[in-house]
Amino acid sequence: MSDRVINFGAGPSALPEEVLTEACKGLLNFQNTGIGIAEISHRSADFDRYIREVEENMRILLRLPQDYKVLFAQGGGTAQFSAVVLNMLARYRSRGGTAEKPAMDYIVTGSWSEKAMKEAKRLGLGDVNVIVNTQTIADDGKKTFNHIPDRDSYKNKFSQDPALIYYCVNETVDGVEFNDDLESPTSFPFDSLPDGAPLVADYSSSFMSRPIPFIDKHAIIYAGAQKNIGPAGLTIIIVRDEWANVSDNSIPLCLSYKALVDSRSLYNTPPVLSIYITGLVLRRMLEIGAENGRPRKKALEYYGERTVKKASKVNAALKEGEARGIFKGKVLEGSGSKMNVVFDIVGGEDKLKEFVSGAEQRGMKGLKGHRSVGGVRVSLYNAVTEDQVDKLIQYMNQFM
Ligand code: PMP
Repeated sequence: MSDRVINFGAGPSALPEEVLTEACKGLLNFQNTGIGIAEISHRSADFDRYIREVEENMRILLRLPQDYKVLFAQGGGTAQFSAVVLNMLARYRSRGGTAEKPAMDYIVTGSWSEKAMKEAKRLGLGDVNVIVNTQTIADDGKKTFNHIPDRDSYKNKFSQDPALIYYCVNETVDGVEFNDDLESPTSFPFDSLPDGAPLVADYSSSFMSRPIPFIDKHAIIYAGAQKNIGPAGLTIIIVRDEWANVSDNSIPLCLSYKALVDSRSLYNTPPVLSIYITGLVLRRMLEIGAENGRPRKKALEYYGERTVKKASKVNAALKEGEARGIFKGKVLEGSGSKMNVVFDIVGGEDKLKEFVSGAEQRGMKGLKGHRSVGGVRVSLYNAVTEDQVDKLIQYMNQFM
């Protein structure tokens, strides 16, 4: 479709064009029912079959162990900031924890984990411990999150019996990411935790961009769909059975994992359209992974390798620009995100405007950094192709 531009936006973000074309058909007639997806009952057999397929495809892609549930909810990552606290505190009490204000450990590495931590504090139900906070002052005097902490700096700091331990894998605003190596068990940043520790991960902006390492070390993994796999409105929660089975009247039902488990994610009307489009994206991911010579269950490895390639191209151009005094990276070596590459343009706001408007003239949008930090942010989610990244690199070179 010629009037579409390249979308490097951080979320909602690019979706595969083939999927959008298919979704247009589904809006008129969902799976030959004669009813559009935005009009069909979520209790119909057709939708029920569909949502089970979405769940199953997610399980295949993630190679999810049997003792984890996949739940679909609304409210975004932001609702999960509160939901994890309420559900984990309930679980703490149900397993006999007696502290009036149970410890909740937060690893703060950027704007999103900071927001989650502040929400836990605001709720006032536990004793929030900030195990690490990597915020520092940059050369220009502004506060910044520019690195992932060395694990030795926090591994002995966890509370005795915490209700939860929270981290965010990829900080979408600040462009830092836990770069855990899938091959090496000792690379897991939380390897010092005992088995069964109540580890919670915000996977919002890297979900389905690569396999999730060490899934079985987590109690809860959650993500909004609107980065790599679908439209906003759908939140995916992956929760280990023992943490999902707690009923507690202090949890509003729309945030309760047990209510979602018992109703198979249909406690109330789910975001049907988001689920539909996410389902189409997952089907396509399985096909493409298989086309690239892998068994379907290894499709995510294909995306992971592509992500690494795309990010290395952008980082190489960034390095070149740094050497020539035109770009300035914001993140320390080894901490950079492969999903959201962030940098500044040397020369201030005018130069930044020149960069962004030059990109727009060439059909590339969504490159402005988050309003809280400014600069440039290149989001490289699954639907952004290598060809599109090459166009950006060409432009970065021209700009230099
Ligand atoms: N966590 C991360 C890592 C995010 O990137 C975002 C949104 N960009 C959120 C949480 C919040 O998600 P939502 O806006 O869907 O509530």
